[in-house]
Amino acid sequence: TAALDVAAVRKDFPILQQQVHGKPLVYFDNGATTQKPKVVIDTLERYYETYNSNVHRGVHHLSQVATDAFEKARNIVTGYINAPDSSQVIFTKGTTDGINLVASGFSRRFLQPGDTVIISAMEHHSNIVPWQMACEDNGATLKVIPINDKGELIMEAFEAMLDDTVKIVSVTYVSNTLGTVNPVEDIITAAHARNIPVLIDAAQAIQHITIDVQALKPDFLVFSGHKIYGPTGTGVLYGSEEWLNKLPPYQGGGEMIKTVTFEKTTYNVLPHKFEAGTPNIAGIIGLGAAIEYLQQTGIPAIQQYEEELMTYAMEQLRQIDGIRFIGDAANRSGAISFLVHNIHPFDMGELLDRQGIAVRTGHHCTEPLMNRFNIPGTVRASLSFYNTTEEIDKLVAGVKRASAMLL
Ligand code: PMP
Repeated sequence: TAALDVAAVRKDFPILQQQVHGKPLVYFDNGATTQKPKVVIDTLERYYETYNSNVHRGVHHLSQVATDAFEKARNIVTGYINAPDSSQVIFTKGTTDGINLVASGFSRRFLQPGDTVIISAMEHHSNIVPWQMACEDNGATLKVIPINDKGELIMEAFEAMLDDTVKIVSVTYVSNTLGTVNPVEDIITAAHARNIPVLIDAAQAIQHITIDVQALKPDFLVFSGHKIYGPTGTGVLYGSEEWLNKLPPYQGGGEMIKTVTFEKTTYNVLPHKFEAGTPNIAGIIGLGAAIEYLQQTGIPAIQQYEEELMTYAMEQLRQIDGIRFIGDAANRSGAISFLVHNIHPFDMGELLDRQGIAVRTGHHCTEPLMNRFNIPGTVRASLSFYNTTEEIDKLVAGVKRASAMLL
């Protein structure tokens, strides 16, 4: 594959050209949200300037243009994750929305007293709380796959948890805090051997790792558009045909129905059954543009570049006196969490910000994980293919400078 031209890539992202506190912006908060290429911004503008209209409603010209563009985005996502059919690609508001959709359906139909839901110790709050609520409402129990000190799932413990009480396993592909890449293939195989469905939270995987749902065979897979260079307020739920048919609708309203009378409503076919109300039309079309941009830039080149950048970042950061990585898994992607001596992450984050370097500090919506490591939070640098080795050098120098000031 042709190598990535990072200088050319950076020109595609207008926001990266600016200065923060008089220093060139170094953006290492990609795990929270990614920046948007110009083509995505232009797509939003073109939608509102030339064909703003509701989808799947009118016969008039603009409505048809908008519907075609919206459904084209669905086809782009279908191709990107290799879904068997575009009807299995449901548009949502984001990862949180997708997990709540599935958890609410399980709560209403498939959970009883004595049942179990399995998650892991490294889940984002959005893959903990919806299941906790579902368990609470049904007298079911939430069980948690433990992790080792490197931040890797203890698979023997997981396999020992699988019994007839387990109704669903819901785990993250990549940890937003530790960067650990989980063996989701093995998790799915083990669960399927007992006919247990699996939901994969791909929020931190979809922008770094090729996902082929026909090879991986998750029952559900969710992600957010804004973490894959698309607009906020957009997301995807992929589901197997079997489970999307079994699962009840999430919200009632327009678009999700076939016929309505006051006595009885029948539901629309997939994917519309799960898309009540007017969706984020501009955003979804923008998400399609974002994925097309990645495909045109070259997914293999992006992935190879990101892997090299991660290796370089880990090598360089390891040189810092007193650094301690939270999560040091062999298989890592996206995020690097660390602490330096006893410096509070907020103090480190603030001093880095003054140097124009954006990192995230705190618990990263993974409080139970922070408790597991007995820390209040971490400093997290999360990488994208528009970051450079020079920026890694600036981060390392910045952390050293901040340490010297704070120690
Ligand atoms: N899961 C993971 C692993 C995440 O990283 C995030 C976002 N930080 C979410 C879920 C929630 O995504 P959103 O806020 O876009 O719904």
